[in-house]
Amino acid sequence: MYLADYHTHSRYSFDGSEPLQVMCEKAIAAGLTELAVTDHMDIFTGLPYGEMINFDEPGGKRFSMDAAGLYRELNEIKDIYAGRLTVRIGAELGQPQVNPEAAKAFVSDYPLDFIIGSVHNMEGDLDVYYYDFTQMDVAAMYDHYVDWLIELAGVGDFDVCGHLTYPLRYMFERCRMRLDLKPYEEKFRHLFRLLVEKGRGIELNVSGLYRPMQETMPPLSLLKLYRACGGEIITIGSDAHKADHIGSFQKEARALLSEAGFSYVTGFKARQPEFHRL
Ligand SMILES: [Zn+2]
Ligand SMILES: [Zn+2]
Repeated sequence: MYLADYHTHSRYSFDGSEPLQVMCEKAIAAGLTELAVTDHMDIFTGLPYGEMINFDEPGGKRFSMDAAGLYRELNEIKDIYAGRLTVRIGAELGQPQVNPEAAKAFVSDYPLDFIIGSVHNMEGDLDVYYYDFTQMDVAAMYDHYVDWLIELAGVGDFDVCGHLTYPLRYMFERCRMRLDLKPYEEKFRHLFRLLVEKGRGIELNVSGLYRPMQETMPPLSLLKLYRACGGEIITIGSDAHKADHIGSFQKEARALLSEAGFSYVTGFKARQPEFHRL
């Protein structure tokens, strides 16, 4: 059976620590046939790609992501595991709309199989991860977040939109806040139609199932809405930053996709979707 994890981070991500080989071994042990490594390539205003800001450091320390090292090593690993595990070469491209030239240069410099387009921060602000949700108008922030997704879908070069509903993860972890998504339904419908029109998809990110929020990103209601808008392209990703999470909740994810009306899960090779029956 085709089992694939399409959202994983290695030691090349600022918030990851796993060697690629350890990730591949864990993927095989978890019964996966395919693994996409999608390290962070966040894009910032005024910085070339690979020059990134780590907000975990005081003042947001600037650092360089070793893209050349990562993709060299990934190509080697791909050959080493050929026949045992299909390794797809990917990236999680963060908010490319803030610096389209930098994003474009990155995409043309590395021949990737797969790109997740994500929004982690808005208007050069901190990652949503650092927000104090008790000190803001959460509904307005969320509305703005969905606008940023729509902008991403309009201009970004990527294959699937990453962890839709992202701020919910931290709103729950920090403040035990949940948000009714109903008021945002029209905006999500607009986003999904745009993605479908452009031949792009979304991911079903299961990280919320091994984190406190206990919900997928997006939840079932939005999976159904995406499907109703003609959405077919959908990958499953654990967003693992530790090898232990690779391949987790595959069964639950596939069941959710079936429940939402999907018959296929998607993989990618050289940026082209491949459909596998659930
Ligand atoms: Zn992300
Ligand atoms: Zn991620």
